[in-house]
Amino acid sequence: MGFILFPMPVFYDTHAHLDYPEFAEELPQILARADAAGIVKVISIGTDFESSRRAIALAERFPNVLAAVGWHPSNVAEAPADIRPGLRDLARHPSVAAIGETGLDYHRLPGMSPGADPAADVPYKARQAELFRQHLEVAAEVGLNCVIHQRDCLEDLLAQFQPFAGRTRGVFHCFANDAGTMRRVVELGSLVSFTGIVTFKNGQNIRDTLAATPLDRFMLETDCPYLAPVPYRGKRCEPAYVKEISETAARVKGCSLEELSRATCATAEGFFKHLAPA
Ligand SMILES: [Zn+2]
Ligand SMILES: [Zn+2]
Repeated sequence: MGFILFPMPVFYDTHAHLDYPEFAEELPQILARADAAGIVKVISIGTDFESSRRAIALAERFPNVLAAVGWHPSNVAEAPADIRPGLRDLARHPSVAAIGETGLDYHRLPGMSPGADPAADVPYKARQAELFRQHLEVAAEVGLNCVIHQRDCLEDLLAQFQPFAGRTRGVFHCFANDAGTMRRVVELGSLVSFTGIVTFKNGQNIRDTLAATPLDRFMLETDCPYLAPVPYRGKRCEPAYVKEISETAARVKGCSLEELSRATCATAEGFFKHLAPA
């Protein structure tokens, strides 16, 4: 270990699925590698009640983990009719930094399966909308912001989010839309966040969106175990790889890693409860 003249720029992984089985065997090592890479806090994101409870348990076990609690739109079929009571209970925990992930996902609709009735999409979309609305209601009620998942559903999602925009903020995570869409999100007072896709050879459209995003309106995330950045593309992703994402992001923004660290950490501290150093 050398004498450290300059502090290493630090970052947060604002979206990780640490409770997934891919990580179960070596969580202490994964978090130690993150810390060594300067990734000092990780938000573990719930995708249903069980997953949210596991995220809270991880936050209790590891001081550099916080939890988000929610029910992913792709898991809508297993969700209770009214998730609000359960979600309120989870949201009360002192390690809970946000509600989510929640949102809409029209990437695989029931009407798309061979032989399926396309009309099956109508109740499915209605159910996702209802679940999303329940998250937004609880978020507004308990004073937390929302981690928002959106895929192939932009106009419906913005229409459903709009009435809540004054009462909760969203981070449109794994942002892969264009700069015009980013501006609509920012105008609602919300944020976007970028994954390892910004490092992909075929990710130029996302780098263009990042280049257009104001320095104080985005955060960095891995969405691990998915979307490992170059040079780990295709392998299991982990929070330490925010380092590679930050290096590409600084280049795209034309700023130093220190500036990027200051901006993205301040943005995340303003968005996630309990994240700011005490
Ligand atoms: Zn997502
Ligand atoms: Zn996710």
